[in-house]
Amino acid sequence: MCGVFGIIGHPRAAQITFMGIHGLQHRGQESAGIAVLRDGQIRAELGMGHAAEVFTSERLALLEGDTAIGHVRYSTAGSSLLRNAQPITVTTGKGSVGVVHNGNLVNAAELRRRLVDAGAILQGNSDTEMILHLLARSPCLTMGDAILDALAQARGAYCLLFLYDKGILAVRDPQGFRPLFFGSVDGKACFASESAALDLVGATGIQEMEPGEVVIATPGSVESIQWRPGEPKRFCIFEFVYFARPDSVFGGISVAQACHRMGETLAREWPAAADLVVPVPDSGIFAAMGYSHASGIPYMPALIRSHYVGRTFIQPSQHKRSSSVRLKLAPVRSLLEGKDVVLVDDSIVRGTTMQQIVGLLKHAGARTVHVRISCPPTKHSCYYGIDTPDPKELIANNMTIDRIRDFIGADSLGYLSKRGMIDAVDGGSWFCTACWDGDYPVPLEDTRQQQLFALKSEGRHE
Ligand code: SF4
Repeated sequence: MCGVFGIIGHPRAAQITFMGIHGLQHRGQESAGIAVLRDGQIRAELGMGHAAEVFTSERLALLEGDTAIGHVRYSTAGSSLLRNAQPITVTTGKGSVGVVHNGNLVNAAELRRRLVDAGAILQGNSDTEMILHLLARSPCLTMGDAILDALAQARGAYCLLFLYDKGILAVRDPQGFRPLFFGSVDGKACFASESAALDLVGATGIQEMEPGEVVIATPGSVESIQWRPGEPKRFCIFEFVYFARPDSVFGGISVAQACHRMGETLAREWPAAADLVVPVPDSGIFAAMGYSHASGIPYMPALIRSHYVGRTFIQPSQHKRSSSVRLKLAPVRSLLEGKDVVLVDDSIVRGTTMQQIVGLLKHAGARTVHVRISCPPTKHSCYYGIDTPDPKELIANNMTIDRIRDFIGADSLGYLSKRGMIDAVDGGSWFCTACWDGDYPVPLEDTRQQQLFALKSEGRHE
């Protein structure tokens, strides 16, 4: 997962972009970067860590220019290295260009193989860099045409912002896996992965881009093209369940309200006799409130989260994940002692994090812990931009529900049904639900093989 932000023609472009990526920090915490356009030249500043760590006021002041794009990154393709941080900027025969990307190309390995065979020298190992190589080699004469020519060869999930001498070109993939919005600040066009980031910078006229839509923003105009029409929308429903900010809105539906309804349905599907409903903060808060509302069991935030540690699921290594659970969550003993507890979270991936959290509650004196999850068991990997692990590591792929319950140490365990999850959003058919049912909207064909090729070519596969 990543977050992208861009703004054109504003005298405070870098500062507003910083605020925008700060508002998208939950989508990626490994690296942050901003690139600005000035007199046809692009300058980028990048660093590892949170946006606020990377961008001191001195560093922001270096970014002079009235058009900017920014990025926060979590590596779904390519290693966690500074050389893979974005924006990626290059100079081509068609001019300078910078790009930020949220998503994952399912044919990245095939594109990499073709480019390497044709003599391309690749700097990093992210799929985004390959898009730049493709546009640099495009026979199209203008940058805008070359971008679309390059993207015609890409398959999978991509929301991209390109910074070039004319302004910003924004594109959302034909299935609309990942979100992308535009609006305006002081009359200047801006873009962001989530509506909440546009709210944060004071944008007005906020609209969601359509799947397959291209928006070209120049200092004097904003033009929308339906570039790849006619493919059914398959928005990642996991954005509602886990990833997006509660104050974001997708398809006109509030994330917070959808999560609340998931919790209400969960209470009806998996009732429990308990004294308290406790959320795993922050991801389980709204579902826990919904569970409490529907069940009548009091809501009690009896796990305190330190806000100085990142989200566990998007920490790249198991070691970092394990230690950050203990650093991140503290149980309130006085609230938990002798109580029967419903513990609500959004998902269980490997099971190790939930095992630790149940252990924390029991150690703090909870008599029983009934775990309730606001989505179905996660059995399949994501190839569209969320770094779910190999299916072998997904606990629901290896164990029955009863065995998972025993593994995490819970007294009972219930998952929201797929129907319940979809109906809690709006009951529509515009979602990707492949994590749970393996119904991949863009065929994977030899994706596994392609990924192995990519890993081998970067020396990471053993
Ligand atoms: S596979 Fe899962 S995480 Fe990936 S896009 Fe589909 S629903 Fe979202």
